[in-house]
Amino acid sequence: MTAQTRSCAVVGVEAVEVLVEAQVIPALRRFSIVGLPDSALRESKDRVRCAVENSGFSFPNREVVVSLAPASLPKHGSHLDLAIAVSILAADGQLPEDAAKDFLLIGELALNGSLQYTGSSLAAAHLVKKSNLNGLILPRANAALAAALEDIKLYPAQLLGEVIAILKERTPPPRVNSMPLSTTPMTGPSYRDVYGQSAAKRVLEISAAGGHNVLLTGPPGSGKSMLAERLPSIMPPLSKDCAIEVALIREASHLKSQGLSAAPPFRAPHHSTSTAGLIGGGSRPRPGEVSLAHRGVLFLDELPEFRRDALEALRTPLERSTVSISRANVCTSFPARFLLIAAMNPCPCGYFGTKGGRCTCLPTEIAKYCAKVSGPLMDRIDLNVWVPPLPPTALAKIPRTQAVDETPEMRRRVLGARARQRERFRSSSYLNSTMSSDQLKSLAQTSPQSQKLIEQAAYTAALSARGFTRALKVARTIADLEESETIEPPHMQEALSYRLPRGVTGPK
Ligand SMILES: [Zn+2]
Repeated sequence: MTAQTRSCAVVGVEAVEVLVEAQVIPALRRFSIVGLPDSALRESKDRVRCAVENSGFSFPNREVVVSLAPASLPKHGSHLDLAIAVSILAADGQLPEDAAKDFLLIGELALNGSLQYTGSSLAAAHLVKKSNLNGLILPRANAALAAALEDIKLYPAQLLGEVIAILKERTPPPRVNSMPLSTTPMTGPSYRDVYGQSAAKRVLEISAAGGHNVLLTGPPGSGKSMLAERLPSIMPPLSKDCAIEVALIREASHLKSQGLSAAPPFRAPHHSTSTAGLIGGGSRPRPGEVSLAHRGVLFLDELPEFRRDALEALRTPLERSTVSISRANVCTSFPARFLLIAAMNPCPCGYFGTKGGRCTCLPTEIAKYCAKVSGPLMDRIDLNVWVPPLPPTALAKIPRTQAVDETPEMRRRVLGARARQRERFRSSSYLNSTMSSDQLKSLAQTSPQSQKLIEQAAYTAALSARGFTRALKVARTIADLEESETIEPPHMQEALSYRLPRGVTGPK
């Protein structure tokens, strides 16, 4: 006798339906699973057998063959346990044969028959939403997150026995309350505790408003990391759809779930991170830091210290906002729309351009150090800013209580600029930095004087074609922050001032 159930395999952040077919054959007691299971799934045999017997059902005392189709697709993870157990019980006649055929089942089984939290619930819920399946049966611990996707029938269960009861009795789905989007995203550090550094704060405000990449250059101890870490505090909170995207990527990378958070992610990988760690990869492709920073900030401190190949590999996600990884016959894609904030010292010793002549580096050493970041990567960075060292007396002069917190004002201007962009593009998924060249022509609204200015600059500063358009986009964001319809010369001048010629030259 044969019975079928449905579950899924997760490829990247997308679930692919897997047909689980069980057959009980009158032969010696044996249990096999075919269809490219990984080791976690091969161990499913023991979990399923114990869970079935401890839930008050009997495991067939004959040969059991479970096939997972499509056979060519590698299947990972223990979330197929539930579909395997149910298909075996149906094939053994302990459940009507077609009882489970129009449900998607996910859940890892514990030996006592309880359903454990699984990391694939959002991907599975997406699959159910776009298919014509009846509903999703899943562990109770996963239900609130999966309910964030509206209009799908969810059947949460705690035990294998409950699942069998749902299937036999066809109980209607209960009401599952969706996990709320956490609306206290700005609990992280704010600019309240950063004294001075107004140029860097201005640049980060422009970056948050229009989605432009930043390079902070300055000696050690000037507060580059502090400035970058506080960027999420002035960014708009994530919409529910964006928060779901972020949660999906966390599930795909097997990170602990943070539920649905409106806080933009902030990732700061160490410079020793491998290319696969940064971009994504591995024999079973997993998202890299660029994807974990999706809809948020990727902060790369000590930029020249990163592996050259890792930095070069950054170029594609920066341009396309997505990462594709090919392995055997499966191509996996991960979203990667992030804001790059990079920081570096001006020279190997770190003190070039500072007072007191502390720098001991030779010009050739400085050139070599700066050349570690390639021209094409620098071209994708729109805002270069010098972060000067703070005089030792600076902090002592201003008592903490008198320090003004600029964060709310910066945030208000960023939100205003974002609202203008939403109106311009009639969508919240576009920002000035993502404008196509056609949009740039029709929507940038450059005044004639500004146009002349940028053309002159393109000629004298030898801007590349990419540099030219990127400077225009930055100017558009500056005009948005100033609530100006057109890009005026001061906006254009400011935008051009952030494009440095190749190599770092210290303070201007
Ligand atoms: Zn130096």
